Amino acid sequence: MSDLSKTAVFIGDTTLRDGEQTAGVVFSAKEKISIARHLDAMGVHELECGIPAMGREERSSIRALVDLGLSARLITWNRALIPDIEASISCGITAVDISLSVSDIMIENKINKSRDWVREQLKRALGFAKEHGLYVCVGGEDASRADSEFLIDLMRIARENGADRFRFCDTLGILDPFTMFEKVGALTAAVPELDIEVHTHNDLGLATANALAGVKGGARYISTTVNGLGERAGNAALEEVVMALKVACGIDVGIDTRRLAAVSRLVGQASNRTVPAWKAVVGEKVFSHESGLHTDGVLKNPSNYEGFPPEEVGLTRHIVAGKHSGTNGIVESYRQIGIPVSREEAQQLISKVRSTAQRLKGPLGPKELMSLHQRMTLSLAAA
Ligand SMILES: [Zn+2]
Repeated sequence: MSDLSKTAVFIGDTTLRDGEQTAGVVFSAKEKISIARHLDAMGVHELECGIPAMGREERSSIRALVDLGLSARLITWNRALIPDIEASISCGITAVDISLSVSDIMIENKINKSRDWVREQLKRALGFAKEHGLYVCVGGEDASRADSEFLIDLMRIARENGADRFRFCDTLGILDPFTMFEKVGALTAAVPELDIEVHTHNDLGLATANALAGVKGGARYISTTVNGLGERAGNAALEEVVMALKVACGIDVGIDTRRLAAVSRLVGQASNRTVPAWKAVVGEKVFSHESGLHTDGVLKNPSNYEGFPPEEVGLTRHIVAGKHSGTNGIVESYRQIGIPVSREEAQQLISKVRSTAQRLKGPLGPKELMSLHQRMTLSLAAA
């Protein structure tokens, strides 16, 4: 296998397009600007920022993003129709995704056309976009269920007509990483001149895994959304993809990961979908340690039980006093609230901490810790 750490991988974030397509999610123009600025500041390479054909309001919010003059490339989503591409051009956009349904299921049952129609439509729309000097990503909707020979055919047509990359969409989120690896590998081998992007959905909880498998198969672009927002179960999450590439594959995509937690909170608020405390990479509590062995290990050296430090994603570590706490964890919990406790005292407190946690069905807060400490000091004074 090639040395992946030397592979250049680009992130095309679609929070502002697929993310906003999440049922019930709407961003205001102001929120879009704020999200775009955050993503740009952290170094995300490309932002898919809307669908100009939707109407005047969408176009004016896209225009406002264009006017920000961001470093990230802005790209819009278009059907393979000339009026759609004209609408994109009218917003000042210079890069377009031209989407076509490519599986026979969709060609027959959704658009009621033929493979030939898809080929012709691709040539027409792509030709128009290239005449206007646009960067073009050809989006293969439902590519994961499409016939691979037909996909290769479309990719060759795309390349011959000047396309810049091909988006392989697992639109329904039904692939497993091994199949994704094989499919992308076969396409890369057949049409090596055309870059592939993987756009993966999370219906089986495999979106991030499939995105990585796509990269291992030769894809150079990954489509993501912050917090994994998106149609149905969502898309591959930006924070997971970036950190998984970095930690598991040794690929640094050049994004400032320390901003991940902040952008996650921002999008959580704007989408009205609070980020669960246990959400991978950016959840507020994912660097919490309670059990005796783990806490002891982390206090000796965080790398004993943390694959990457919380600061790397903009979070902090918490030592939690609860049912599974050990002596060192209790000493640390008291130290965090400004009460120095010796190991001997912590040992006396252990059973009380455990029974309180059992009663609370959760960890002890500063109030409970202080009251246990007070009772212990009083009983020692009385003795
Ligand atoms: Zn999608």
